[in-house]
Amino acid sequence: RFISFEGIDGSGKSTQARMLAETLRSEGHEVVLTREPGGSPGAEDIRKLVLEGDPDRWSAHSEILLFTAARRDHLERTILPALAEGKVVICDRFADSTRMYQGLSRGDLRALVDELHRLMIGREPDLTILIDMDPAKGLSRALGRGGSEERFEEFGEALQVKMRAGFLALADEYADRFTTINGARSIDAVAQDVRAIALAHLT
Ligand code: C5P
Repeated sequence: RFISFEGIDGSGKSTQARMLAETLRSEGHEVVLTREPGGSPGAEDIRKLVLEGDPDRWSAHSEILLFTAARRDHLERTILPALAEGKVVICDRFADSTRMYQGLSRGDLRALVDELHRLMIGREPDLTILIDMDPAKGLSRALGRGGSEERFEEFGEALQVKMRAGFLALADEYADRFTTINGARSIDAVAQDVRAIALAHLT
């Protein structure tokens, strides 16, 4: 089973992905916890190329190609082998993040993102958990954390607002696999919902 977490920066999805992995392991599941961009040695190298350094280094189109290349490598080397061994794969971001960030943040490139996805990836998670979060709150959380957020600092809250609306629309578009959770609560309250949804899905 393939479970992805999505949400804006600072939504708490990485924490929730980690907690779900621990919960499922303690219940006897074999779990691979992974993330995007990254999740395989090659894709982690691409992550550095894209997220570190000058944000204008790549054009919008080459950025889509880099993210797609990273995802293809991650899928081939990490995700598909784990699924074939019957493991639960929990992925912190997947193609939905590219539909949002590369598809919407630098012009409307969603059609290109979708076409490349169809050609090179062709796989969706079985379950996608969207941690919904107020953009201003997410922003202050993400900025407080530092790290890889410089890129997105320059776009700021307007981008967060757009991404949040975009994720909610995506949850409607792919309603068959999306579940949306209110992330503006305590970590444990959110984790309880995540656990219930994941267990219902796995049994
Ligand atoms: O999820 P994580 O915090 O690791 O993401 C790192 C940064 O990469 C974030 O600022 C996120 O907005 C950005 N990102 C992106 N396009 C993606 C995935 C992540 O711009 N497809």
